[in-house]
Amino acid sequence: MAAERPLPNLWHATAPSAPDTRPLAGDVTVDVAVIGGGFTGLSAALHLADKGVSVAVAEARMIGFGGSGRNVGLVNAGMWTKPNDLVATLGKEAGDRLLTELGNGPSLVFDLIEKHAINCEAVRNGTLHMAIGDEGLKDIKDREAQWKKRGAPVELLAAPQARTISGAEGFSGALLDRRAGTIQPLAYARGLARAAIAAGAKIYTETPLLAAERKGDLWKLTLGGGTITARNVILATNAYGDLVARTPWKAHTRELTILPYFQFATNPLPDSVAQTILPERQGCWDTGLVMTSFRMDQQNRLIFGSIGRLDAMAEGTHRAFAKRSLKKLFPYVGDFRFEYWWDGQIGMTTNNLPKLHSLAPNVVSVSGYNGRGIAPGTVFGRALANHVTGEAAALPLAESSLTPDPWRGVKSAFYHVGAQAKHFIDRRF
Ligand SMILES: Cc1cc2nc3c(=O)[nH]c(=O)nc-3n(C[C@H](O)[C@H](O)[C@H](O)COP(=O)(O)OP(=O)(O)OC[C@H]3O[C@@H](n4cnc5c(N)ncnc54)[C@H](O)[C@@H]3O)c2cc1C
Repeated sequence: MAAERPLPNLWHATAPSAPDTRPLAGDVTVDVAVIGGGFTGLSAALHLADKGVSVAVAEARMIGFGGSGRNVGLVNAGMWTKPNDLVATLGKEAGDRLLTELGNGPSLVFDLIEKHAINCEAVRNGTLHMAIGDEGLKDIKDREAQWKKRGAPVELLAAPQARTISGAEGFSGALLDRRAGTIQPLAYARGLARAAIAAGAKIYTETPLLAAERKGDLWKLTLGGGTITARNVILATNAYGDLVARTPWKAHTRELTILPYFQFATNPLPDSVAQTILPERQGCWDTGLVMTSFRMDQQNRLIFGSIGRLDAMAEGTHRAFAKRSLKKLFPYVGDFRFEYWWDGQIGMTTNNLPKLHSLAPNVVSVSGYNGRGIAPGTVFGRALANHVTGEAAALPLAESSLTPDPWRGVKSAFYHVGAQAKHFIDRRF
């Protein structure tokens, strides 16, 4: 397995503890095996267990080890790509179906949080897409027009309103999406796991999938610690399929370009400052080519993120960029220090949309949320649960053939080095 530098991740410091799970020890037979303990796998497991289907989740490390325990926590509606572009890619019927499912995604997330009393700092006051300059303003105006045509409650804010609602300087406007909100993502993942276990799902941690063998119409999976025999397999390893290496069904991971993204979280800010920054506690990201994001947490920490990996070489550059950016955005912020910093891998696809595949009989995979996986992961997890039990006529997205991207390694390296260069050069402006 690729070595990873242990970094202080805020979400690990503030999430309620994980449910008690153990590695697999011995042989287990279930109807459905789920590989991967992030939002997708856990949502699938919860929805399957709720229907009385026997299901086991195998997670190579711990619940929320992948993107689900590292993200910004923006529970957004739809994909990152604009609604009309999504329809142009998929066609009208399929595009409309996906937009409707994902437009309702935040409602599914917040309903699950309420239903299962998941303690995850949930705030549903919308998210803000912050515009940089004239080009950024044009971009969010397009998005506003396209979503409004679909009846979505989005609102374009002029520069002064954007300043008041965010507390941040320098933006030419903002798009407020009232469907959306923020969560503490690891706490949400752990809450889903707890709910799934309560509904009857088995969850095995430190249990990597190593091999798979067809036995009649069943799959016999070999994992660290034992075997799981199941009729159906759901692969939910997303951008972490490579990191934990040896999955037998690997081709779908070769479609993903890995986009690294880091975050830095300050110490809790004094009330006087914390009440001016995002007083309604929306989460924000901007229209910049090298995107940045910012939000507050429940302890009044300000969290800033951007593209890049915090390896030993790059950390100093990204840290200095984060500090300068926060001082520029919030000139009144006063003294602060970073108490937490961490990074993660985002799975990007060539058409900016997730990929759903049948990799073998009764083996489905979904991956490539392009940085939008909280609501979509939850939605796809539920959809796959319905799919394997034969209850859903139409998945949110049609299955597609595998299209490995030969440039993925080069593109990934470009994101890593390009972001570092941008954050370094930025010092002079
Ligand atoms: C830094 C960052 C910021 C982001 N910000 C946002 C945001 O604000 N809003 C949003 O909606 N999305 C965001 N995303 C994207 C979102 O986090 C992901 O799309 C989402 O977490 C994907 O969930 P998942 O369950 O599909 O995969 P993951 O959460 O990545 O889970 C996959 C799991 O599979 C396990 N696994 C891999 N191989 C094996 C194996 N062989 N055997 C067993 N287990 C295995 C891994 O250990 C991992 O835990 C962000 C992502 C990152 C990294």
